[in-house]
Amino acid sequence: MSRPIGLTGGIGSGKSTAAGFLARLGAGVVDADEISRELTAAGGAALPALREAFGDRMVPPGGALDRAAMRALAFADPAARGRLEAILHPMIREESARRVAAASGPYCLLVVPLLLESGGWGRRVERVVVVDLAEGLQLERTVARSGLAPAEVRAIMATQWPRWRRLQAADDVLWNGGTPEQLRAQCERLHGRLAARPR
Ligand code: ADP
Repeated sequence: MSRPIGLTGGIGSGKSTAAGFLARLGAGVVDADEISRELTAAGGAALPALREAFGDRMVPPGGALDRAAMRALAFADPAARGRLEAILHPMIREESARRVAAASGPYCLLVVPLLLESGGWGRRVERVVVVDLAEGLQLERTVARSGLAPAEVRAIMATQWPRWRRLQAADDVLWNGGTPEQLRAQCERLHGRLAARPR
């Protein structure tokens, strides 16, 4: 299969919701976050390297990666974040490529939260679809879904690209400042264009 279509957007922007609509229309979907969770679950392929790098405290013997502790460490310590990414990102990219190659449908979406922020994805996608909405609404929806405090969500948002920068990199934009139905209608139009594009 040809290169996938990258789907990205900030935390809580509606990536999973949009991917769900597009999947129902027939798109193949590969989700980088899901792969990351599998790699770091008990028995996951990334655990030996992560234990080697961060010790038994982060990866208890026989257990899974302590994601909350790892997130806190990566947030506080850029060097630790770098080590984590050096282990996980190549594995995520490799597994993504395998799944994209095996996907069926007129095109395959590759859903990656930090598609634009983390180097290395750019050349791997054919085009970039950005899910966009006003930051205030993004904050509100993320707080409602996650139970995190607004300040915590704002801190995460501050590590991601600002809206203008993401929009500048977009080939297609799905505006999710309205109802789910409005998002679905845009997904239908986008699906029509993507399915009909020359390859
Ligand atoms: P992401 O995958 O980008 O983190 P989600 O698709 O999980 O975002 O959406 C974040 C939250 O917002 C979820 O609880 C989802 O149900 C909700 N949501 C998404 N789109 C809309 C919308 N148009 N109106 C209201 N709630 C929405």
